[in-house]
Amino acid sequence: MDFNFSPEDEAFRAAFRAWLEQNLQYSTPAREPLADELEGDWDARVRWHRRLHQGGWMGIHWPREYGGRGATILQNVIYQDELERVGAALPFTGFGISLLGPTLIHWGNDEQKRRHLPKILAGEEFWCQGYSEPNSGSDLASLQTRAVEDGDYFVVNGAKIWTSAAQHADWIFLLVRTDPDAPKHKGISYLLVDMKTPGITVRPLVQMNGARGFNQVFFEDVRVPRKNLVGEKNQGWQVAITTLMFERASGHDRGLLKQVAELVDLARRVPRNGGRAWNDTSVRQRIAQLKAEGEAIRYTGYRQLTRQLKGLPPGAESSMLKLCATELALQIAVFGMELLGPYSQVEAGSPFALDTGKWSQRMLAARGPTIYTGTNQIQHNIIGERVLGLPKG
Ligand SMILES: Cc1cc2nc3c(=O)[nH]c(=O)nc-3n(C[C@H](O)[C@H](O)[C@H](O)COP(=O)(O)OP(=O)(O)OC[C@H]3O[C@@H](n4cnc5c(N)ncnc54)[C@H](O)[C@@H]3O)c2cc1C
Repeated sequence: MDFNFSPEDEAFRAAFRAWLEQNLQYSTPAREPLADELEGDWDARVRWHRRLHQGGWMGIHWPREYGGRGATILQNVIYQDELERVGAALPFTGFGISLLGPTLIHWGNDEQKRRHLPKILAGEEFWCQGYSEPNSGSDLASLQTRAVEDGDYFVVNGAKIWTSAAQHADWIFLLVRTDPDAPKHKGISYLLVDMKTPGITVRPLVQMNGARGFNQVFFEDVRVPRKNLVGEKNQGWQVAITTLMFERASGHDRGLLKQVAELVDLARRVPRNGGRAWNDTSVRQRIAQLKAEGEAIRYTGYRQLTRQLKGLPPGAESSMLKLCATELALQIAVFGMELLGPYSQVEAGSPFALDTGKWSQRMLAARGPTIYTGTNQIQHNIIGERVLGLPKG
């Protein structure tokens, strides 16, 4: 493992750092997903997205011919580090930049690329992901939403669930069943659907932290032009897997050590046994344990990065990272609640809430990442079967 950056990478860092210094006042801060902010924040995130785009700093991993910078894996890491260093968020404006754009670059035809990629990059078109259904999550290929061909159209009927940001999205990339008689992976197609098409209903699902992060989306005789089919009919599973590969590359391990540092800060402020919690050796030991795990995850992340840089296929590290990082984030949040004692029950936004109530919000929100991009139980299966070579249960 080589911890040094090349002169080109250092120049890249300096350029982005200089741009951030000039433009930080337009950024969306990397803050806790408090319920009301999640809704009220959308316009600010769109503005930050557009600002980054104007500066040439959006979708940096996209190839240059599609408006990106063709940034290397390491430059992507530098980009994330610099945003984190100044406390700015990479705005979440749906799944266009991270998932659909890269998938279209790989699978889309020229017209689809021309129509969508520039608008995605510029923050003029936002996308949501229509994969999960009420009975198809981990076993995604069992999905039942039907699309039947009718001349130049597909007619779609069915329902998707847990669709993040559908209330803001202009478009949805949708997995549909086009051949119900074929084996389940072979009868699926991948469609691009305009959310304004008649027959689409978006119903909010409010999460346990009070935020409206995701939705149920219903399709009733929705007519989708055939030209919106990505790849071949009935071969959408391969396209879907490409999107999932981009999704799994997302960094679950980011920000953990910062959260441990925040725990230290909290322990220094809250009372325990007549003194500060930090004076209690058992508290310091717990925090030291969390810090040690955070460091182990950091180095596992570097090992994964080294594999990527050497052009090797993903190894055991990616499943381990997803599993361990999301579990650690949950443990950190739960220990924050423990330190707060009765104050942990004070609602976010209340004048009596410590740290604006972020620990309870964090604890509630930390369950999500243990479920999406392949649940942690599924990661256990992958590690057991594919990494350790254990027999299938
Ligand atoms: C915050 C959040 C945002 C999301 N956003 C989106 C989105 O935008 N678009 C979208 O399409 N989906 C989205 N999802 C849905 C997500 O992809 C699914 O929740 C996930 O795939 C799990 O599917 P499921 O909920 O149907 O659970 P199930 O697959 O029904 O699983 C239920 C339980 O059984 C366990 N289980 C299932 N199969 C196995 C097995 N073979 N071995 C061991 N245990 C097993 C699971 O681990 C889980 O604990 C989101 C989810 C969350 C939490």
